[in-house]
Amino acid sequence: MNPLLENFNTPFETAPFHLINNEHFLPAIQASIEMAREDIKTIKENSHPDFLNTIVALENSGEKLSRAASLFFNLNAAETNEEIQRLAKEISPLLSAHSNDVLLDEDLFKQVKEVYDRKDQLNLSTEESTLLDKTYKSFIRNGSLLDEAGKKKLRDIDQQLSMLGLQFGENVLKETNNYELIISEEKDLAGLPEGVVEAASQVAEEKGKKGKWVFTLAFPSYIPFMTYASNRDLRKKLFIAYNTKACKGDQLDNQEIIKKILQLKNQRAKLLGYDNFASFVLEERMAADGAQVLSFLNELLEKARPKAKAEMAELADFARKKDQLDDLQKWDVSYYAEKLKMKKYQVDDELLKPYFELNRTIEGVFATAKKLYGISFKENPQIPVYHPEVKAYEVNDERGNHLAVLYADFFPRPGKRNGAWMTIYRGQKRTGNKEQRPHVSIVCNFTKPTKTKPSLLTFNEVTTLFHEFGHALHGMLADGNFESLSGTNVYWDFVELPSQIFENWCYEKECLDLFAKHYQTGEPIPEFLIERIKKAANFHQGYQTVRQISLGLLDMAYHTADPDKIEDVFAFEKEIMKPTELLEPVAGTMMSASFSHIFQGGYAAGYYSYKWAEVLDADAFELFLEKGIFDKETAYSFRDNILAMGGKEHPDVLYKKFRGRSPKPDALIKRAGLLV
Ligand SMILES: [Zn+2]
Repeated sequence: MNPLLENFNTPFETAPFHLINNEHFLPAIQASIEMAREDIKTIKENSHPDFLNTIVALENSGEKLSRAASLFFNLNAAETNEEIQRLAKEISPLLSAHSNDVLLDEDLFKQVKEVYDRKDQLNLSTEESTLLDKTYKSFIRNGSLLDEAGKKKLRDIDQQLSMLGLQFGENVLKETNNYELIISEEKDLAGLPEGVVEAASQVAEEKGKKGKWVFTLAFPSYIPFMTYASNRDLRKKLFIAYNTKACKGDQLDNQEIIKKILQLKNQRAKLLGYDNFASFVLEERMAADGAQVLSFLNELLEKARPKAKAEMAELADFARKKDQLDDLQKWDVSYYAEKLKMKKYQVDDELLKPYFELNRTIEGVFATAKKLYGISFKENPQIPVYHPEVKAYEVNDERGNHLAVLYADFFPRPGKRNGAWMTIYRGQKRTGNKEQRPHVSIVCNFTKPTKTKPSLLTFNEVTTLFHEFGHALHGMLADGNFESLSGTNVYWDFVELPSQIFENWCYEKECLDLFAKHYQTGEPIPEFLIERIKKAANFHQGYQTVRQISLGLLDMAYHTADPDKIEDVFAFEKEIMKPTELLEPVAGTMMSASFSHIFQGGYAAGYYSYKWAEVLDADAFELFLEKGIFDKETAYSFRDNILAMGGKEHPDVLYKKFRGRSPKPDALIKRAGLLV
């Protein structure tokens, strides 16, 4: 008996965590891959392929497999152990081999193509037509239309790319780990908070340098040093070490790897009939093409640059008055910015935390969702969970019908990875007249309550909670027929709209009044603090915006340029970054060689999405500001046109239905205070 292979005899068919052991995973995945193969075989037995027996059947194939796999990988992220990690190494290749088997199945593709070629005669709904396009494209984007030689070449390129991506990442990691800044005199620690000094002394001890302090290029060490260390020479030293990673001409240099990666990506795109790699990527994005992304970034740059320049001038002035500093450099920015921000706004976490007790804040999130969408939450201890700290809620819609199951897992544990995320155990879909409602989870790492003190959140944690809950709403309010087009299964540059827009409510008094009360006195958060939070959130927005745009421009330049023309990576980067430089460039430093987002991760030709999503969320929220942040009509329109629709239709169309027009950057420019 393997509980993963049985029907789940639990409330709402939730995952039977109480019955599952590590030994169940591998056999369940193996058996369900077999079942998925059988499903494909059955599909291929159809002598008259049509939309239902081929496209929908393919969509619904491997149901057990996807449930078992999502359960396994969700646990590997939220409650892992060595055994699960070992299993993941065994299970991942099985899954990618299986999905390759499907996408490379020539007979299956022929059948899909047969349906696709008759698309116009099929009388499909928009949603069905989207599914057909998506299915067909998943094959051709993987080379199904190529001849044998072309297919071989594509496999070859993919293999080389995955090796080069790994090597790029390994070089950055080695460069990060190889470097240490050793401090042996206490005076060089001036300015650093106690906790940071303590951590550095611990690192020193681990590295056999007891009695000294070691700082590294890892984020938790690098960022506080650049923000607080008053020794300017050491800041410069660490800054240069950080920004010369993998570009020093030794065996860990990434420049040749970058050129090879760009060559191969360009070849891959051309082979499949696209102009360049950006066109290949943007085909499945809300943004239409590279030209639209470039004009989007450049328009925003025009607006943000004057503000950014003014911010840097103010900062230079502040540094001059404070320390007689005459030439503000890049290694001074974080340091003086922190001090200037404190001087201007005096917002610190300790002041705000008493107003954001965790349980009250969760109630506030629920109350906000109820006011907007009429949905309600009830804890249900009958629903099995994977750890005693996890809570499970039954979610009902305004008519009292079951909408979803929501798991909430808030505190750090040794088996949980860092950060915060939303994920699903089961998606939403409709087959025949049977509807499957989703099981959604949000996982965070908030400060745990103690015997004497409840969990008090920093404001940053509050916005994180709202952000992840925004994703959860996208999942819970999903209303579609096909799981792969439902909920958060939307284009990448659209997926952060529901999450980011929800963050906006935590800056509004009307919303904060629902829950932000002092945990001891019950006194509501004072209005002057809300004002300060808003102002502090906009501090150096010009500078940050220009920085993000510079990375977006660099990414887009690499993936639209003719790779043969990129001879010197230093020179190429310098040229592209020129319009975004706010301070003197530092000779020998480079972003590209450690730009893992685009050369190792999945952000190639996608870095612009960060700003794109901000434009969308600010523009969409502006309508709520106009009509009232709890205006029912606006909320229902957002629910019906965006949240419930998932990926059924092109996001451009959905957005216009909600907003009545295409998105404009004006609201973001206003919100971020970029007008000078
Ligand atoms: Zn997000």
